[in-house]
Amino acid sequence: MTATIPQVAPAASVADRPMVEAVEVHKRFGNLEVLKGITMSVERGQVVCLLGPSGSGKSTFLRCINHLEQIDAGMIRVAGETVGYREKNGRLHELREREVAAQRRKVGMVFQRFNLFPHMTALENVIEAPTQVAGRSKADAKAQARRLLAQVGLADKADTYPAQLSGGQQQRVAIARALAMEPEVMLFDEPTSALDPELVGDVLDVMRGLAESGMTMIVVTHEIGFAREVGDVAVFMDGGVVVEAGDPTQVLVDPREERTRAFLSKVL
Ligand code: ADP
Ligand code: MG
Repeated sequence: MTATIPQVAPAASVADRPMVEAVEVHKRFGNLEVLKGITMSVERGQVVCLLGPSGSGKSTFLRCINHLEQIDAGMIRVAGETVGYREKNGRLHELREREVAAQRRKVGMVFQRFNLFPHMTALENVIEAPTQVAGRSKADAKAQARRLLAQVGLADKADTYPAQLSGGQQQRVAIARALAMEPEVMLFDEPTSALDPELVGDVLDVMRGLAESGMTMIVVTHEIGFAREVGDVAVFMDGGVVVEAGDPTQVLVDPREERTRAFLSKVL
Protein backbone atom coordinates (compact mmCIF):
# COMPACT_ATOMS: atom_id res chain seq x y z
CA MET A 1 0.00 0.00 0.00
CA THR A 2 1.34 3.44 -0.80
CA ALA A 3 1.19 6.01 1.94
CA THR A 4 -0.75 9.20 1.44
CA ILE A 5 1.51 11.97 2.68
CA PRO A 6 0.00 15.38 3.26
CA GLN A 7 1.75 18.46 1.93
CA VAL A 8 3.81 20.04 4.67
CA ALA A 9 3.96 23.63 5.78
CA PRO A 10 7.45 25.20 5.83
CA ALA A 11 9.25 24.04 8.95
CA ALA A 12 9.29 26.40 11.90
CA SER A 13 12.51 26.39 13.87
CA VAL A 14 13.04 22.98 15.42
CA ALA A 15 13.18 24.38 18.94
CA ASP A 16 9.67 25.85 18.54
CA ARG A 17 8.21 22.55 17.45
CA PRO A 18 6.66 19.99 19.75
CA MET A 19 9.00 17.06 20.37
CA VAL A 20 6.49 14.62 18.93
CA GLU A 21 3.65 15.57 16.58
CA ALA A 22 1.27 13.00 15.19
CA VAL A 23 -1.40 14.13 12.75
CA GLU A 24 -4.24 11.86 11.59
CA VAL A 25 -2.09 8.72 11.78
CA HIS A 26 -3.62 5.65 10.19
CA LYS A 27 -2.17 2.16 10.35
CA ARG A 28 -3.66 -1.12 9.22
CA PHE A 29 -2.52 -4.72 9.29
CA GLY A 30 -4.26 -6.35 6.32
CA ASN A 31 -7.97 -5.72 6.81
CA LEU A 32 -7.57 -4.63 10.41
CA GLU A 33 -7.37 -0.88 10.86
CA VAL A 34 -5.48 -0.50 14.13
CA LEU A 35 -4.95 3.28 14.19
CA LYS A 36 -7.86 5.29 12.85
CA GLY A 37 -6.55 8.83 12.79
CA ILE A 38 -4.44 9.50 15.86
CA THR A 39 -3.56 13.15 16.46
CA MET A 40 -1.32 13.99 19.39
CA SER A 41 1.28 16.57 20.28
CA VAL A 42 3.97 16.19 22.95
CA GLU A 43 5.89 19.27 23.98
CA ARG A 44 9.54 19.19 24.99
CA GLY A 45 9.87 17.99 28.57
CA GLN A 46 6.29 16.79 28.72
CA VAL A 47 5.23 13.39 30.03
CA VAL A 48 2.24 11.90 28.25
CA CYS A 49 0.67 8.78 29.73
CA LEU A 50 -1.21 6.59 27.29
CA LEU A 51 -3.90 4.28 28.61
CA GLY A 52 -6.42 2.01 27.00
CA PRO A 53 -7.63 -1.55 26.77
CA SER A 54 -5.55 -4.31 25.26
CA GLY A 55 -5.69 -4.15 21.46
CA SER A 56 -6.49 -0.44 21.29
CA GLY A 57 -3.32 0.31 19.31
CA LYS A 58 -1.03 1.77 21.99
CA SER A 59 2.02 -0.35 21.16
CA THR A 60 1.47 0.09 17.44
CA PHE A 61 1.39 3.86 17.88
CA LEU A 62 4.69 3.82 19.80
CA ARG A 63 6.21 1.59 17.12
CA CYS A 64 5.12 4.07 14.44
CA ILE A 65 6.91 6.91 16.27
CA ASN A 66 10.06 4.82 16.07
CA HIS A 67 9.40 3.84 12.44
CA LEU A 68 9.32 0.19 13.46
CA GLU A 69 5.97 0.29 11.67
CA GLN A 70 5.31 2.37 8.58
CA ILE A 71 2.12 4.40 8.73
CA ASP A 72 -0.45 4.26 5.92
CA ALA A 73 -1.59 7.86 6.14
CA GLY A 74 -1.00 10.95 8.22
CA MET A 75 2.28 12.25 9.54
CA ILE A 76 4.55 11.91 12.53
CA ARG A 77 7.35 14.30 13.38
CA VAL A 78 10.00 13.80 16.04
CA ALA A 79 12.14 16.80 17.03
CA GLY A 80 10.88 18.62 13.95
CA GLU A 81 11.76 15.87 11.46
CA THR A 82 9.16 13.83 9.60
CA VAL A 83 9.59 10.19 10.59
CA GLY A 84 10.75 8.15 7.60
CA TYR A 85 10.92 11.17 5.27
CA ARG A 86 13.03 14.19 4.49
CA GLU A 87 11.43 17.51 3.61
CA LYS A 88 12.87 19.15 0.56
CA ASN A 89 11.29 22.07 -1.30
CA GLY A 90 8.01 21.41 0.47
CA ARG A 91 7.92 17.76 -0.60
CA LEU A 92 8.67 14.59 1.28
CA HIS A 93 11.24 12.03 0.15
CA GLU A 94 11.52 8.60 1.71
CA LEU A 95 14.63 8.09 3.82
CA ARG A 96 17.21 5.39 3.21
CA GLU A 97 17.74 2.68 5.80
CA ARG A 98 20.80 4.41 7.27
CA GLU A 99 18.94 7.69 7.60
CA VAL A 100 16.06 5.90 9.29
CA ALA A 101 18.55 4.40 11.75
CA ALA A 102 19.95 7.86 12.50
CA GLN A 103 16.43 9.19 13.08
CA ARG A 104 15.60 6.24 15.33
CA ARG A 105 18.49 7.11 17.63
CA LYS A 106 16.57 10.17 18.79
CA VAL A 107 13.99 7.85 20.28
CA GLY A 108 14.72 5.55 23.20
CA MET A 109 12.38 2.66 23.79
CA VAL A 110 11.73 0.49 26.82
CA PHE A 111 9.49 -2.53 26.49
CA GLN A 112 7.52 -4.68 28.88
CA ARG A 113 10.12 -7.41 28.38
CA PHE A 114 13.55 -5.98 28.99
CA ASN A 115 15.41 -8.17 26.44
CA LEU A 116 18.86 -7.62 27.88
CA PHE A 117 21.65 -9.58 26.24
CA PRO A 118 21.96 -12.52 28.68
CA HIS A 119 25.65 -13.17 28.03
CA MET A 120 26.64 -9.58 28.82
CA THR A 121 26.96 -7.83 32.17
CA ALA A 122 24.79 -4.81 32.98
CA LEU A 123 27.64 -2.49 31.95
CA GLU A 124 28.28 -4.39 28.72
CA ASN A 125 24.57 -4.16 27.88
CA VAL A 126 24.65 -0.40 28.34
CA ILE A 127 27.79 0.23 26.26
CA GLU A 128 26.82 -2.10 23.40
CA ALA A 129 24.92 0.38 21.20
CA PRO A 130 27.10 3.43 21.97
CA THR A 131 30.25 1.53 20.95
CA GLN A 132 28.82 -0.64 18.14
CA VAL A 133 26.29 1.74 16.61
CA ALA A 134 27.28 5.28 17.61
CA GLY A 135 31.02 4.59 17.32
CA ARG A 136 31.90 5.97 20.72
CA SER A 137 35.17 4.95 22.38
CA LYS A 138 34.93 2.15 24.91
CA ALA A 139 36.40 4.32 27.68
CA ASP A 140 33.83 7.08 27.09
CA ALA A 141 30.97 4.62 26.84
CA LYS A 142 32.02 2.89 30.07
CA ALA A 143 32.24 6.15 31.99
CA GLN A 144 28.80 7.14 30.71
CA ALA A 145 27.38 3.68 31.51
CA ARG A 146 28.61 3.94 35.11
CA ARG A 147 26.89 7.30 35.44
CA LEU A 148 23.67 5.92 33.99
CA LEU A 149 23.73 2.80 36.15
CA ALA A 150 24.15 5.08 39.18
CA GLN A 151 21.22 7.18 37.93
CA VAL A 152 18.97 4.08 37.89
CA GLY A 153 20.23 2.99 41.32
CA LEU A 154 22.46 0.16 40.13
CA ALA A 155 25.97 1.52 40.60
CA ASP A 156 26.97 -1.71 42.34
CA LYS A 157 25.56 -4.02 39.62
CA ALA A 158 27.76 -2.99 36.69
CA ASP A 159 29.47 -6.37 36.50
CA THR A 160 26.39 -8.48 37.20
CA TYR A 161 24.71 -10.62 34.54
CA PRO A 162 20.96 -10.26 33.88
CA ALA A 163 20.15 -13.69 35.32
CA GLN A 164 21.49 -12.50 38.68
CA LEU A 165 19.27 -9.39 38.65
CA SER A 166 15.62 -9.09 39.64
CA GLY A 167 13.11 -8.14 36.96
CA GLY A 168 12.98 -4.60 38.30
CA GLN A 169 16.76 -4.32 38.21
CA GLN A 170 16.82 -5.69 34.66
CA GLN A 171 14.24 -3.13 33.62
CA ARG A 172 16.34 -0.35 35.13
CA VAL A 173 19.36 -1.61 33.16
CA ALA A 174 17.15 -1.49 30.06
CA ILE A 175 16.32 2.14 30.84
CA ALA A 176 20.02 2.96 31.28
CA ARG A 177 20.73 1.18 27.98
CA ALA A 178 18.13 3.29 26.16
CA LEU A 179 19.48 6.50 27.75
CA ALA A 180 23.01 5.65 26.65
CA MET A 181 22.10 6.64 23.08
CA GLU A 182 21.16 10.10 24.40
CA PRO A 183 17.65 10.10 22.94
CA GLU A 184 15.52 13.22 22.74
CA VAL A 185 12.38 11.33 23.69
CA MET A 186 11.78 8.12 25.61
CA LEU A 187 8.93 5.73 24.86
CA PHE A 188 7.88 3.25 27.53
CA ASP A 189 5.56 0.38 26.62
CA GLU A 190 4.05 -1.02 29.82
CA PRO A 191 7.47 -1.04 31.51
CA THR A 192 6.20 -2.44 34.80
CA SER A 193 3.50 -4.85 33.59
CA ALA A 194 5.76 -7.91 33.71
CA LEU A 195 7.15 -7.16 37.17
CA ASP A 196 6.26 -8.57 40.55
CA PRO A 197 4.30 -5.88 42.41
CA GLU A 198 7.05 -5.21 44.95
CA LEU A 199 9.50 -4.35 42.14
CA VAL A 200 7.28 -1.85 40.35
CA GLY A 201 7.99 1.10 42.66
CA ASP A 202 11.73 1.23 42.00
CA VAL A 203 11.20 1.34 38.24
CA LEU A 204 8.53 4.04 38.53
CA ASP A 205 10.89 6.04 40.78
CA VAL A 206 13.57 5.95 38.07
CA MET A 207 11.01 7.10 35.51
CA ARG A 208 9.85 9.87 37.83
CA GLY A 209 13.46 11.06 38.20
CA LEU A 210 13.88 11.02 34.45
CA ALA A 211 10.74 13.10 34.04
CA GLU A 212 11.99 15.59 36.63
CA SER A 213 15.26 15.89 34.72
CA GLY A 214 13.24 17.21 31.78
CA MET A 215 13.10 14.17 29.53
CA THR A 216 10.20 14.07 27.08
CA MET A 217 8.35 10.81 27.65
CA ILE A 218 5.41 8.86 26.28
CA VAL A 219 4.48 6.15 28.74
CA VAL A 220 1.97 3.40 28.09
CA THR A 221 0.97 2.36 31.58
CA HIS A 222 -1.95 1.30 33.69
CA GLU A 223 -0.30 2.73 36.81
CA ILE A 224 -2.94 5.36 37.49
CA GLY A 225 -1.03 6.83 40.45
CA PHE A 226 2.05 7.38 38.30
CA ALA A 227 0.00 8.90 35.49
CA ARG A 228 -1.62 11.35 37.92
CA GLU A 229 1.56 12.32 39.74
CA VAL A 230 4.06 12.40 36.90
CA GLY A 231 1.98 12.78 33.75
CA ASP A 232 1.36 16.23 32.29
CA VAL A 233 -1.27 14.78 29.99
CA ALA A 234 -3.25 11.55 30.04
CA VAL A 235 -4.54 10.12 26.79
CA PHE A 236 -7.19 7.41 26.74
CA MET A 237 -7.24 5.33 23.55
CA ASP A 238 -9.78 2.74 22.51
CA GLY A 239 -10.31 1.02 19.18
CA GLY A 240 -7.55 2.97 17.43
CA VAL A 241 -8.81 6.44 18.32
CA VAL A 242 -8.10 8.94 21.07
CA VAL A 243 -11.27 8.92 23.14
CA GLU A 244 -10.19 11.74 25.43
CA ALA A 245 -7.03 13.54 26.46
CA GLY A 246 -6.20 16.18 29.00
CA ASP A 247 -5.13 16.86 32.54
CA PRO A 248 -4.46 13.45 34.14
CA THR A 249 -6.57 14.14 37.19
CA GLN A 250 -9.53 15.13 35.05
CA VAL A 251 -9.19 12.22 32.60
CA LEU A 252 -8.43 9.60 35.25
CA VAL A 253 -10.64 10.77 38.09
CA ASP A 254 -13.51 12.51 36.39
CA PRO A 255 -13.53 11.35 32.76
CA ARG A 256 -15.94 12.93 30.31
CA GLU A 257 -16.41 9.80 28.24
CA GLU A 258 -18.28 6.70 29.29
CA ARG A 259 -15.68 4.46 27.58
CA THR A 260 -12.93 5.95 29.75
CA ARG A 261 -15.01 5.50 32.86
CA ALA A 262 -15.73 1.86 32.05
CA PHE A 263 -12.05 1.15 31.47
CA LEU A 264 -10.96 2.84 34.67
CA SER A 265 -13.46 0.90 36.73
CA LYS A 266 -11.73 -2.28 35.52
CA VAL A 267 -8.10 -1.28 36.18
CA LEU A 268 -8.59 0.52 39.50
P1 ADP B 1 -2.22 -2.46 22.53
O1 ADP B 1 -0.76 -2.19 22.69
O2 ADP B 1 -3.07 -1.28 22.81
O3 ADP B 1 -2.65 -3.66 23.32
P2 ADP B 1 -1.49 -3.20 19.83
O4 ADP B 1 -0.99 -1.99 19.19
O5 ADP B 1 -0.48 -4.18 20.32
O6 ADP B 1 -2.50 -2.82 21.00
O7 ADP B 1 -2.44 -3.99 18.85
C1 ADP B 1 -3.56 -3.41 18.24
C2 ADP B 1 -4.17 -4.41 17.30
O8 ADP B 1 -3.28 -4.62 16.20
C3 ADP B 1 -4.42 -5.79 17.91
O9 ADP B 1 -5.64 -6.26 17.39
C4 ADP B 1 -3.26 -6.60 17.42
O10 ADP B 1 -3.61 -7.95 17.33
C5 ADP B 1 -3.00 -6.00 16.06
N1 ADP B 1 -1.60 -6.12 15.63
C6 ADP B 1 -0.53 -5.56 16.25
N2 ADP B 1 0.61 -5.82 15.57
C7 ADP B 1 0.25 -6.56 14.51
C8 ADP B 1 0.96 -7.15 13.41
N3 ADP B 1 2.29 -7.01 13.30
N4 ADP B 1 0.26 -7.85 12.50
C9 ADP B 1 -1.08 -7.99 12.61
N5 ADP B 1 -1.82 -7.45 13.60
C10 ADP B 1 -1.17 -6.76 14.54
MG1 MG C 1 0.67 -3.04 23.92
